[in-house]
Amino acid sequence: MNKTSPLLSIVVPCYNEEEALPCFFHEIDKQTALLKERHNLECELIFVDDGSRDGTLALLRDASQKDKRVHYISFSRNFGKEAAIFAGLQRANGDYVVLMDADLQDPPSLLVQMFELLQGGEYDSIATRRSDRHGEPPLRSFLARLFYKLINRFSDTDITDGARDFRMMTRKMTNAVLSLGEYNRFSKGIFGWVGFRTKWIPYENVVRVAGHTKWSFWKLFKYALQGIMAFSTAPLSLASLLGIFFCFVAAIMVIFIVTRTLFTAILSAVGHRWPV
Ligand code: UDP
Ligand code: MG
Repeated sequence: MNKTSPLLSIVVPCYNEEEALPCFFHEIDKQTALLKERHNLECELIFVDDGSRDGTLALLRDASQKDKRVHYISFSRNFGKEAAIFAGLQRANGDYVVLMDADLQDPPSLLVQMFELLQGGEYDSIATRRSDRHGEPPLRSFLARLFYKLINRFSDTDITDGARDFRMMTRKMTNAVLSLGEYNRFSKGIFGWVGFRTKWIPYENVVRVAGHTKWSFWKLFKYALQGIMAFSTAPLSLASLLGIFFCFVAAIMVIFIVTRTLFTAILSAVGHRWPV
């Protein structure tokens, strides 16, 4: 490898992606060749197998034997996309790092443009967002929009609606993201929280090339709650307010019960009965 060439690390979390990976390899090969040709950029591919139960790991093993740019990490079980992203970022050696899904919903054809923008030096990160949600189930779109409304209402960190994790960053920003060793991670929030100059590129939603989404309704719901808890103090404030409210109600009830008991005792002592 030419020592003077910059290195781009492409980090790809994979969970049961045996159907999508062959297409991904094909597309990424084309784009990394273009990056090499136009910008003399070397690439390394870091796949994180997030406890897949299909042939994903075998495919990655095979690819790493055939292509020395391909590396993989294999998790002992499914830890979730966020854990896979973190492990991949930790393993990345690049001067630039890009996060991508394995299903081609993050178009590899944008890589050249992203790198060119980043190389200009004006930005530390080139982020992407979907300009529409074409092809997504309507209920999921509705809930996603509701989530972004809620989180932006209650959180000081700007979390863009439609934002993807597909983002290319400089080493400086990657290190800042890595310095946050949160246990329950919500990357979309972390990217905004660490700051840095970010350029957003919108693109039309692309449907998954093969296989199906790995997010069940329940998994997404827990992820959304995690995001709200991590980036807003609203749940904590709500819990405190409810606590104060119920304390107040309990105090009034105590006063009422004590007073009533005293009155009943006094009245029965003087021989009076409450009307029935
Ligand atoms: N993924 C993962 N672990 C999980 C779920 C997903 O590593 O527990 C990976 C998955 O293989 C894909 C990316 O994260 O590369 C995005 O997942 P998916 O396409 O299922 O999400 P969607 O696009 O439907 O939001
Ligand atoms: Mg996807």
